[in-house]
Amino acid sequence: MKFSLVNGERIEAKPELSGQCPVCNYPTIAKCGEQRIKHWAHKGKRICDSWWENETEWHREWKGHFPEECQEIIQYAEDGEKHIADVRTVQGWVIEFQHSFLKPEERKARNAFYVKLVWVVDGLRRTRDKTQFINSLNHVNIGQNVKTVYLDDCALLREWSGIHAPVFFDFGEQQLWCLLPTHQDAWGYVAGVTRQEFIELHNKAPDETENFEKFLTKLNNLFGLVSQRSLVHQTKQSPPIIQQKLDPLEMIRSAMLRRKRGINPYAPHRR
Ligand SMILES: [Zn+2]
Repeated sequence: MKFSLVNGERIEAKPELSGQCPVCNYPTIAKCGEQRIKHWAHKGKRICDSWWENETEWHREWKGHFPEECQEIIQYAEDGEKHIADVRTVQGWVIEFQHSFLKPEERKARNAFYVKLVWVVDGLRRTRDKTQFINSLNHVNIGQNVKTVYLDDCALLREWSGIHAPVFFDFGEQQLWCLLPTHQDAWGYVAGVTRQEFIELHNKAPDETENFEKFLTKLNNLFGLVSQRSLVHQTKQSPPIIQQKLDPLEMIRSAMLRRKRGINPYAPHRR
């Protein structure tokens, strides 16, 4: 953890400080050694949030782009379940920065717990991921900066496809790749967005003309264009033309509504 409570205030770790875990109230101690980044740990080996992963420089760097009051925010479900989100933006989006491998069940659980969720995934953890991703990209632009990707060729894409939340891959470059929350068979769609744009969009006040929700809408509109367009320029195994337009925002809204009604937000719709 980056912050712990010291006399009721959120404080970063400093040598010899002790504090209290904001999640479970258990005593914490500041760890300021050479090997890892400065952080707080529970006294003893307590794990109070099983979703929490050990932070890396990569996590810290990302969190640092958001106001302190948006970092490490406890989120509650109606049944009292609570988890600490890496970032909750001023617009109410939870951003999870994921470095380590996540079991499918846990990914599913987190997608259900945080309804307005955005993933940022470290694409440099495994050496093969970046190369596989580049090789799976079809470099023909099919709408501004949207491209098709062949999911079967890339382990990272296979792991993260088919979920409702937008996923941004960080391969250590200025441009992030957003995997759109839909795919057809072995094909998915990715959109390039700069790191700067991603951060700025999230840090704008909710009532500003440009914000993350509007960005998603724009992306969705682009995606609508893609789905209507005949993909004749594709070579080799051409991806199929998408029959059904899926609106990620609409999916989030309907998930929120269904959760309100006490229905599992991600169970398939019955018609
Ligand atoms: Zn704790």
